[in-house]
Amino acid sequence: MSLTAEIISVGTELLLGETINSDAAMISKELADLGIDVFHHSAVGDNRGRIKEIFQTALNRSDIIIFTGGLGPTYDDITKSTIAEQLNLKLEKKEEIIEDIKRYFKNKAKDMPPNNELQALIPQGATVLKNDWGTAPGVMIEHENKKIFMLPGPPFECKNMMKERVVPILSKISEKALVSRYIRIIGRTESETELLLSDIMTKGVNPTVAPYVKDGEILVRVTASAKTKDEAFKLTEPTVKEIEKILGSSIYAIDIDSPEEVLVNLLKQKKITISCAESCTGGGIAHKITAVAGASNIFPGGIVSYSEEIKENILGVDPKIISSFGVVSKETAEAMAKKCCELFKTDIAIGVTGYAGPTFGENDSAGHVFISIFYNEKNTTGEFHFLGTRERVRNKAIKQALKMAIEQIK
Ligand code: ATP
Ligand code: MG
Repeated sequence: MSLTAEIISVGTELLLGETINSDAAMISKELADLGIDVFHHSAVGDNRGRIKEIFQTALNRSDIIIFTGGLGPTYDDITKSTIAEQLNLKLEKKEEIIEDIKRYFKNKAKDMPPNNELQALIPQGATVLKNDWGTAPGVMIEHENKKIFMLPGPPFECKNMMKERVVPILSKISEKALVSRYIRIIGRTESETELLLSDIMTKGVNPTVAPYVKDGEILVRVTASAKTKDEAFKLTEPTVKEIEKILGSSIYAIDIDSPEEVLVNLLKQKKITISCAESCTGGGIAHKITAVAGASNIFPGGIVSYSEEIKENILGVDPKIISSFGVVSKETAEAMAKKCCELFKTDIAIGVTGYAGPTFGENDSAGHVFISIFYNEKNTTGEFHFLGTRERVRNKAIKQALKMAIEQIK
């Protein structure tokens, strides 16, 4: 039997749509990794009556209840006192917490405001979860075989408190562990992938296999559950191997977070350098590459050649190419990649030109993008019609460019 958990996020700002409930999403992911079933998420305003109402419902149906938010020092931070009231627990002042908070402020060269003392009030018998990332300590109450956690709302604090304080407690009581593996696919659509894997998918109970699309990219997720993480990982292995056999060279990475990581690792491995000349992606490709640690070994630089003038005068694209074929054309993208290789003296270069939108060109060519990779003295070029907002078009172009570079190097 697996444990059931639910998350209650407290804060009127969540109900007003001012804050997205990212804490609940983060906590859910952590609980899934522990093999704990999350059946409900709720958001409730800073209101004692309604917090008590949802808390009572949660007590009736879940083994683990995790509150986020409302632990701060202000008058609307009422989570702790409301829960204590509901469970008939008195609040006790803990001097050691006041010392911790004073130390926190001292490190920031400030004095502790007097209302922060409120944070040192802890329900009788509760366990204090030390907060090394902010001032409000977390709390755990054990009540009739249930565990009730209260975590601070600010996402940075909530995340660290969850990982460092709550997960170690829950991993001891959860009898299940879940492991998900991600296989990244290049050059196949979601339905093609699904068709190829249909046998494995219908067969699979543990592990389960599911292709899915994230940020315009196709991933295959293989998830297994077992008593421990090691056992669950072992269960995924035969299925991952089988998928490798079926999809072969369409797989460009397994268990690696992003295409840019794959690209940088590949370039480092093969001792190849890269540069990029970007128009509609505005430096986004360079941004992605340089976000990976160790990028300096393989990336001397890139150019954002947004205007025609810069494409011609700095990058060195022949003006005749632009005037005869247009600034958004296969020929211009190819010249941009080739000239970029020369300018930055790299082994490989990416050239991107296109219309990011939302409206552009004579016959609404928003999303029309050419990407060229210059490598081994030749161009490989793709023409794309990306759909969506300006941001989505730019993101898709960036991902596609990274993936095309990976394909060429492989
Ligand atoms: P503080 O000590 O900062 O007051 P707190 O535990 O009282 O922390 P809240 O006052 O409820 O938390 O929220 C503080 C900030 O954290 C909010 O302004 C909001 O930006 C963010 N926040 C709160 N709850 C969530 C949530 N569920 N998901 C994402 N962000 C949140
Ligand atoms: Mg607050």
